[in-house]
Amino acid sequence: MQQSLLQEIILPMPAATLGFELLVFLGSIYFRKHNITFLVLLFLSSRILFLFLDFHQAHSFIALFSPIVFAILVSLKKDYLSTKRLIPACLVVISYILLGIFTKDSAFISYLHNLKFINQTYVYSDFSFCLFLVLMLYVVILRKINNFECFLQGAYVASYFQFLFYHKLQSYNLSYFELGSFIFLAAIGYQGYKLAFYDSLTNVYNRRAYDTLELKNKDVIAVVDIDFFKKINDTYGHEIGDIILRSLASILKKYAKTYRYGGEEFCLVFKDYDYFKCVAELEKLRKEVEDFTFNAKNHNLKLTISIGLCLVTNSKFGAFEMADNRLYQAKLTGRNKVVFE
Ligand code: GH3
Ligand code: MG
Ligand code: MG
Repeated sequence: MQQSLLQEIILPMPAATLGFELLVFLGSIYFRKHNITFLVLLFLSSRILFLFLDFHQAHSFIALFSPIVFAILVSLKKDYLSTKRLIPACLVVISYILLGIFTKDSAFISYLHNLKFINQTYVYSDFSFCLFLVLMLYVVILRKINNFECFLQGAYVASYFQFLFYHKLQSYNLSYFELGSFIFLAAIGYQGYKLAFYDSLTNVYNRRAYDTLELKNKDVIAVVDIDFFKKINDTYGHEIGDIILRSLASILKKYAKTYRYGGEEFCLVFKDYDYFKCVAELEKLRKEVEDFTFNAKNHNLKLTISIGLCLVTNSKFGAFEMADNRLYQAKLTGRNKVVFE
């Protein structure tokens, strides 16, 4: 394991991740993201801890400290307190302790050993790697439960595991520590990416993402607009309007890469697609929305959409303008239709 591929890849990381941690630290102070500042401080302090404490003292401290830290992190945000979100976290902690007991390889066991609660020989194994797989599983479970901010939660757990793996430092030359740190940084990066390019209401790409999109000839742009949406807002209120926008976005996403262009107007982009196949797809979409019953706070609502589309031949802007004109034609000629020529 000493010279494993994993280590060869990860070993050059320490200086880079330390640099990243300092950057994230400064960034989090600047953007007043105090929970991130707190985490990075933990990362940095954990490095210092090992400089001043002997190995056993340090990992005993961490074995005790990390579950408390995790609990604090979990409760930093109110919505993390729901039991639904805590279930996977508990599963991970329980499996960590159980695996540690069976493999005699865990900081928790080692801590008990240090306190002379148990008299067991402490052995090293590769089990930490398996625990990383458990971590990945945890992230996947969170993804299933709630997409929103799941990566940040994954980062919290990564930091937790990072501490748990600390006892590996002497035999593994910081590999797992760096890997944990790297996952954390990647999670922060992903969170930043989501903030920049996703629409928070509908969880599809936003206007900024559309503006940075490059399109080639043979791509197709479709502009989708809800018919008489104002009436829904006026009759049932904006909150219900928002729920409908979210449900509609999840239908649109099934057909193509979806951007919320503005308000209740979405842009669908089909890459290198046969134009008439695309028209047929959009006709299917129009029909699906027409047949779908939107459920919002015990109201069952029906609505329709109008669509204009255009093949990209010269420029993205020209094609969008043409698609938008066709959408306007659809509105003028009765709505609930796809106009493609
Ligand atoms: P039509 O398109 O068929 O001509 O009629 P419309 O009533 O849908 O007209 P228009 O497209 O101009 O209406 C846009 C409305 O969408 C206005 C605004 O109240 C609503 N809207 C825009 N953004 C949001 C949003 O984020 N949430 C909610 N609830 N409503 C929004
Ligand atoms: Mg509309
Ligand atoms: Mg509109």
